[in-house]
Amino acid sequence: MKKIFSYSYPKIVKRFALDPAKAAKKVTFKFDPKYDGFAETNWPDPIITGNPSQIKDSPNGMGWFAHELTHVVQNYKTGCTVGSSSNWFVEGMATYGDWSYSPNGDGVIFQDPGAPKSTDSYKDAPPGVGARFLVWVEKHYSSKIVDKVNHGCQIGTQASTTFKSVTGKTVDQLWKAYKADKKFKISLPLNR
Ligand SMILES: [Zn+2]
Repeated sequence: MKKIFSYSYPKIVKRFALDPAKAAKKVTFKFDPKYDGFAETNWPDPIITGNPSQIKDSPNGMGWFAHELTHVVQNYKTGCTVGSSSNWFVEGMATYGDWSYSPNGDGVIFQDPGAPKSTDSYKDAPPGVGARFLVWVEKHYSSKIVDKVNHGCQIGTQASTTFKSVTGKTVDQLWKAYKADKKFKISLPLNR
């Protein structure tokens, strides 16, 4: 974990912190066998809590760690929502952080969820589905979309507003176009 932290965290801070100079320098990680989720980060404290047995069985190996470190840096005071769907950007971006800044090694397993099924919705999809959608929006509309939505939420502009102002489309419209794009592929890890 120390190796991943020193590789990933400075990159995540540099790209995603509102003010990298003010980002937490120290992050605390707690194993809690009684915590009944996988892992979570509670803003504004740079503290990650994880369930040891779930983490041991993690399908993307140690990739979860850069995912949580991305949550630490997001630190949204008023969330980052698209309509009634509060979490898909927060979670999708955290996995985008894993795909971009986890080391290629050290037990990390990158998992491409593949093209969305016709019945899938970004609103209740697992984080990888949201992350893959973000990569599509990045390729088709703006290479800065993740950064702009992230920084917008850090200063209180909700995700739906930034998606509309950058792409001219609602997230529902973007999702529909993404689902219809049968040729789109990604290769992981991203951006290197
Ligand atoms: Zn998460």
